[in-house]
Amino acid sequence: MNHIEFIRKQAKNFLKDWQTQTKTVESDGYISYHYDWKFYDVGDLFFYFELDDKDEQNYSLGHAQHYIAQMVGFKKWDDLTNASEKELELAEFLLRHFKDAQDLQQWEEVTGDPHITPDNAEELLDYAQYFYGLQEIQSIAYLPVDEVTILSGKQKANEMKQFDAEHAPNRSMRKDSYIFCTRCNKAYNFNQSKVIKSNTKNITMVVCKNYPDCRGTYLDYKVLSPTIMYKESRQAALEKGIHSFKTHFTMDTKVHCIHCGKEYLYREANVVQFPDNDEPLVYCKHYPECNGSLIDMMEV
Ligand SMILES: [Zn+2]
Ligand SMILES: [Zn+2]
Repeated sequence: MNHIEFIRKQAKNFLKDWQTQTKTVESDGYISYHYDWKFYDVGDLFFYFELDDKDEQNYSLGHAQHYIAQMVGFKKWDDLTNASEKELELAEFLLRHFKDAQDLQQWEEVTGDPHITPDNAEELLDYAQYFYGLQEIQSIAYLPVDEVTILSGKQKANEMKQFDAEHAPNRSMRKDSYIFCTRCNKAYNFNQSKVIKSNTKNITMVVCKNYPDCRGTYLDYKVLSPTIMYKESRQAALEKGIHSFKTHFTMDTKVHCIHCGKEYLYREANVVQFPDNDEPLVYCKHYPECNGSLIDMMEV
């Protein structure tokens, strides 16, 4: 089946779903429609296209074709059927991924609702293949834990090495980034992420440090940039550290960091403001190479 045949068939499928319409009139006169749909969640899409009652009852192949064209970014069916081969390929690809309003919204969000033209069709198709490919890979994070393997050692290191900025939608993520997982609301260094591999398919995914409790993947990460504080705020945080946790410390206490094993004076410790914390925290003198914090500092 070529692209245009596929697309024509989708308009027929859309109409079939539309024809499953049943109507309910509530006691207050409010009319609602229900669809026993198979291909497209037409009721949901009509809501998205803001159809009124009259339009929703008015089903025909011509109207179905119109909505199919709109779903893939064309004004009308004729524009779609007269489109270039690349545009048709893109339209078919999208129709294979669109079922309901949420799918349309998601695509609009990631692409900025582009009007498809022969000039941008190829670029959009590349992006669509990349984007929906990622979705499939990301889904392995939701498999039962016995269907994936958590990589460790060299295998994990190799996968992490292959991870580069191109994997990240906004291209800002790096292996040394300090990140925030929006699924579990925890911040950590990117390289503390886990890497899982499907036991049946040759796909791997960088997932949250807290996997499997958290099923977030790197696509759920936001990059944070912790700030090292100086002057008054640094002094205040060091003093607060003494008052709250290390009451026997003074600024001149010689401390031993159990994280990196190094010794230094308490007043040489770093004070770091993390974007997700209200207050700055005391960290090892050797932050960020060492992740030790105030609780890791022992009096020598
Ligand atoms: Zn997480
Ligand atoms: Zn340290």
